[in-house]
Amino acid sequence: MDALQLSRRLATVASYVRDGARLADIGSDHAYLPANLLLNKHISFAIAGEVAQGPLDNVQTEINRHRLGDVLVPRLANGLAAVTPEDLIDTVTIAGMGGRLIAQILADGHTDGQRYQRLILQPNIDIDVVRTWLMDNDYQLEDETVVEDDDHFYEVLIAVPGHADYSETELKFGPFNLEKRPEAWQTKWQREYDRVKTIMAKLESANKQDSDAYREYQQQVTEISEALGL
Ligand code: SAM
Repeated sequence: MDALQLSRRLATVASYVRDGARLADIGSDHAYLPANLLLNKHISFAIAGEVAQGPLDNVQTEINRHRLGDVLVPRLANGLAAVTPEDLIDTVTIAGMGGRLIAQILADGHTDGQRYQRLILQPNIDIDVVRTWLMDNDYQLEDETVVEDDDHFYEVLIAVPGHADYSETELKFGPFNLEKRPEAWQTKWQREYDRVKTIMAKLESANKQDSDAYREYQQQVTEISEALGL
């Protein structure tokens, strides 16, 4: 993977960035995502925010390699502190991190009531934590999907300002996923169902059906079966 050839995961995130967006990619590392969008002329300005100097050096390498110095700005900063009002950023991407860290970055970056026109978020885990933060902070989902890349499943959430109330089931499985039922989403949850069933079978053979752990797994299996319509 590089800026010219994105992974399926990052290509999916990129596909939700609107033409002409002014983008802040937070936790950019190598900056492949903004560099790709700039090289393909989908966007004309981006900030690559990084909290660590090593990844920021990767950003600079990418800027030099593709001569993007005028349009891709590297910033060493914690989260959305990389963005100033003068940047006129309308779109934020945060990809490849845990959902709790993404929610924390969003919380720290929204203390002044700031709202971005579009958030494109790709949490690796704890996706429900991100959906909950969005719901509690006046963003609503516009779309979501799941992409399979190298035998991993990655969820991508697209949020815009607005309010929607989501049920516990929707926070866990995704309101749009439940409606559209993307194939990768079904495979992801079918695998989780199989994994939990395997653990339950082991607990059963150890005669531990009466444990809290077993009841917790039973609950998970019920939720997944209902979501998948098994
Ligand atoms: N976004 C790229 C992707 O999806 O391929 C890189 C993901 S990489 C696993 C996560 C990056 O986030 C690291 O380079 C790390 O330094 C950066 N990071 C972690 N916490 C951050 C924060 N609070 N603010 C900015 N960058 C952060």
